[in-house]
Amino acid sequence: MFVTFEGLDGAGKSTQINRLVQKLKEQGMKVLVTREPGGTLGGQQIREWLLNPDADWTPIAEAYLYAASRAQLVETVIRPALQKGEIVICDRYVDASIAYQGAGLGLGERRVAVLNELAVQDVRPDLTFLFDLPVTDSRHRIVQGREGQQLDRIEKRTTEYFERVRRSFLAIAAAEPHRVVILDARQNRETLEQEIWLTIEKYLT
Ligand code: C5P
Repeated sequence: MFVTFEGLDGAGKSTQINRLVQKLKEQGMKVLVTREPGGTLGGQQIREWLLNPDADWTPIAEAYLYAASRAQLVETVIRPALQKGEIVICDRYVDASIAYQGAGLGLGERRVAVLNELAVQDVRPDLTFLFDLPVTDSRHRIVQGREGQQLDRIEKRTTEYFERVRRSFLAIAAAEPHRVVILDARQNRETLEQEIWLTIEKYLT
């Protein structure tokens, strides 16, 4: 089973991923957790290039870098784990590229989806949790979390950019309601944890 977590930064994905993994392991399940961009040595290097505040990637180059990191992760980590029957949990996947590079940067959601087909081939999530949060809340949480540290290249983008990203995530969810579960990320941690667990349980039984 392949589960992905998506949404704007500051939505609380990492906390919920940690809680879910802990619960699944307590039930004796084999779980592999990974993230994008990153998750492999090459992916981690690509992550640093992408987030470097001085980098000047063009939108299409940026989309290919995310796809390259993803291709490496799919081939060397995700597919082998799925083949062994493990539950794979990934913090961001193709939906993030469609929303951030396709809608946010204006490359076009369809074009970015096509570009990613070669990178992921048949490895598609069975279930996706979309952490939905108003852009103002997301910005607020990021700035708070930074405690005076510099924002990275992507965090520095405009509110309009993040509004496009949020709308695109919601459009993906509306188009694929059986795969994507929308969660209101303003709810408290316990409520979110419960919602996620109830959904996962349905898939596991
Ligand atoms: O989720 P995480 O914080 O690790 O992502 C790192 C950065 O990359 C974030 O600012 C996120 O918004 C951005 N990102 C992106 N396009 C993607 C995936 C992540 O702009 N396809």
